[in-house]
Amino acid sequence: MNKLIIATNNQGKVREIKSIFAGVYEDVQSLKDAGIVADVEEDGKTFLENARKKAVEISKLVDCDVLADDSGLCVDALDGAPGIYSARYAGDGHCDEDNNAKLVADMAAVPDGQRGGKFVCAMVLAREGREVTHTIGEVHGEILRAPAGAGGFGYDPLFFVKEYGKTFGELPADVKNKISHRSRALAELKAILTK
Ligand code: IMP
Repeated sequence: MNKLIIATNNQGKVREIKSIFAGVYEDVQSLKDAGIVADVEEDGKTFLENARKKAVEISKLVDCDVLADDSGLCVDALDGAPGIYSARYAGDGHCDEDNNAKLVADMAAVPDGQRGGKFVCAMVLAREGREVTHTIGEVHGEILRAPAGAGGFGYDPLFFVKEYGKTFGELPADVKNKISHRSRALAELKAILTK
C-alpha cells in the first residue's frame, strides 16, 4: 500500500499536505492517525538537519514513507534570527504574541529598506531510515513595525509581502497557502515524486 506518514500533529499542516499529495499517495496519515508517539529532539543547526532527523528517525519505526518539515523566519538585519529558534524566540513556554513583540523590539532601530526577511521550510522524505529526497521552499518579505491582520499564525501579522501589499496575517488563507515557503517546498517535492 502506498502510504505516507507526516511527522507532525499540526492539523493545519496535515490538511494542506493531504490535499497536495492526494494523487501521489493512496493514504496520508499524521503521527496520531498512525498511532505513533515519537519525541525526536530538534537539535540540528539548520532547518534541513532538523527535518532530516525527524523523517529518518520516524521512518525506522514504520514500513512506509515519512515526510517531516522544519520551518521558521530568518531576518536579514538579525543575521538570520530567529531562524531555527522561531517557535521559542521569546523563550520556552512563550506564545506567538510574545515572539512577535520581541521581534518588533529587536527590529526597532532597523531602518526602512533594511527590514527584509524570509520564511524558510525544509521538507525531507525518508524511507527505512534513509533520506530519499529533500526540498527547501522560501518566501521573501519585510518585517513591519507593528502587526497587521489576525489571520494565519506565528509571525504572519508582521510579515509584509510587497507583491500583495499585505501581511500574511491579512492575506486570505488560500492565497498564503499558494505562495508560502511550505507550499513551495511541497510543490517541488511533488514534482520530484511524480516525475
Ligand atoms: P514549525 O516548523 O512548525 O516548528 O514552525 C516553527 C516556527 O516558525 C513557528 O512556531 C512559527 O513561529 C514560525 N513559522 C513557521 N512557518 C510559519 C508561517 O507560515 N507563518 C508564521 N510563522 C511561521
